[in-house]
Amino acid sequence: MKMPTVAFHTLGCKVNQYETEAIWQLFKHAGYEQVDFEKIADVYVINTCTVTNTGDKKSRQIIRRAIRSNPEAVIAVTGCYAQTSPGEIMDIPGVDIVVGTSGREKMIDYIEQYRKEREPINAVSNIMKAKEFEELDVPEFSDRTRASLKIQEGCNNFCTYCIIPWARGLMRSRKPESVIEQAQNLVDAGYKEIVLTGIHTGGYGEDLDAYNLAMLLADLDEKVHGLKRIRISSIEASQVSDEVIEVLHRSDKMCRHLHIPLQAGDDRVLERMRRKYTTEEFKETILKLQQAMPDLAITTDIIVGFPGETDEMFENGYRFIEEIQFSKLHVFPYSKRTGTPAAKMDDQIPEEIKEQRVHRLIELSDRMSRDYAEKFVGQVLEVIPEEEVKDEPGSGLYAGFSDNYIKVAFPASEKLVGKICKVKIEKPGSDVSRGIFVKVIE
Ligand code: SF4
Repeated sequence: MKMPTVAFHTLGCKVNQYETEAIWQLFKHAGYEQVDFEKIADVYVINTCTVTNTGDKKSRQIIRRAIRSNPEAVIAVTGCYAQTSPGEIMDIPGVDIVVGTSGREKMIDYIEQYRKEREPINAVSNIMKAKEFEELDVPEFSDRTRASLKIQEGCNNFCTYCIIPWARGLMRSRKPESVIEQAQNLVDAGYKEIVLTGIHTGGYGEDLDAYNLAMLLADLDEKVHGLKRIRISSIEASQVSDEVIEVLHRSDKMCRHLHIPLQAGDDRVLERMRRKYTTEEFKETILKLQQAMPDLAITTDIIVGFPGETDEMFENGYRFIEEIQFSKLHVFPYSKRTGTPAAKMDDQIPEEIKEQRVHRLIELSDRMSRDYAEKFVGQVLEVIPEEEVKDEPGSGLYAGFSDNYIKVAFPASEKLVGKICKVKIEKPGSDVSRGIFVKVIE
């Protein structure tokens, strides 16, 4: 008998990618075969994004594309845009099922129900009332070296530019036992590195009694046998408590890398963004971290051209960023998101000014990345090669990340992919540094 087929398309962030993988597991267990999104499938699942207005538009385009590919197929739409605007999606002729950012475990049941009743299903519920973490696991990833593990959902911050709390709801942490169990499964499946992910990852535990992020990190370190590296995808400066610093300091599994979103380096802009720290507080946290973990790599996100950001505020922020010496910046031009307070602020910044500012910060980021990598020339770092360098096929060069998040390319072979290798850094680069293979550890 021919197996039913399903095709996926994911828009947006890493959490969405993770969840698509988890939804695929449900289909796999129900006997489905996965096919390419461009092919004819019996079911199309579109996992949407709403972080910017363009996210909505792209999501609608992809939904229409799936309907055109096979008008007979069941079209199921899920994710953040589905959560915030189910009506807009149900109005697209050909959409059969809409599920938001919770209740995805029932996806297969909805498909069965639709096949029987032929009535469109809107399964989106009020996400602000969701209290429980949605348990959806991913036992394997296409990337053989790093496994993501989602530990929390939602966010209570309501920054003025961000729609995410409306799409994801309030903070819900995954139960510690469940995180540990899943971490052990991933290690048993061969992964050496686990990246803890979520919508507001560093907020883990804020909704739990007598348990917090530092305790989870310590438990992962002590209780998961065979785990080599633990990385946190993102943590706010205000969440880097002394207890977290203590675990980072004593654990040899915690990567020497933290992603701490700054968003703006000027206090007036931070306040209008409704971020929960001042530049002074941010700096204090960084200094404490650097004392506890010398050579720690700190990466960050910056939004430029937030409403009201004058040249002087931008320059002020530029100097602050330079002073902190991040190892990489992710720079985004501010983009108006309908439904957020910042979209209604009247002093919006012209696009060309945003572009110039993005450009300046990308240059600064390249310089800081090279300076950071330069410190390690001659040193031996542990790198897990991920894949052959694409723009130099046949060169025998493989690239992967060191624990302190330097991307290193070095001569290796396919059999070393996913193994921890000792690599001596030879030539620093802003994007990729070059190294020589010393030996494989495991
Ligand atoms: S911390 Fe702010 S930017 Fe991040 S998800 Fe929460 S509201 Fe959005």
